[in-house]
Amino acid sequence: MNQRCESCFSCGMPLTQASDFALGDETATFCTYCVDKEGKLLPFDSILKSNAGYYQESQGLSEQAAMKMAKDLLVSMPAWKNAGV
Ligand SMILES: [Zn+2]
Repeated sequence: MNQRCESCFSCGMPLTQASDFALGDETATFCTYCVDKEGKLLPFDSILKSNAGYYQESQGLSEQAAMKMAKDLLVSMPAWKNAGV
């Protein structure tokens, strides 16, 4: 009965287990990487940087390519779509 197909509204990471959610709260719309210690959404730039860093490491992209890829992805997310970034 536990049908869940959610992903972080900010970075698109799949939220599959409690520890993936912000503050371990399964009703949260953001992942644990996109919030601060109080569960507030981090600034766009900081999420952009950590996503880009992830692409650099996992896909061996250059910093420039990773930043572009991360930005393209983030601006399509519900949290940033209307943020004018
Ligand atoms: Zn996230």
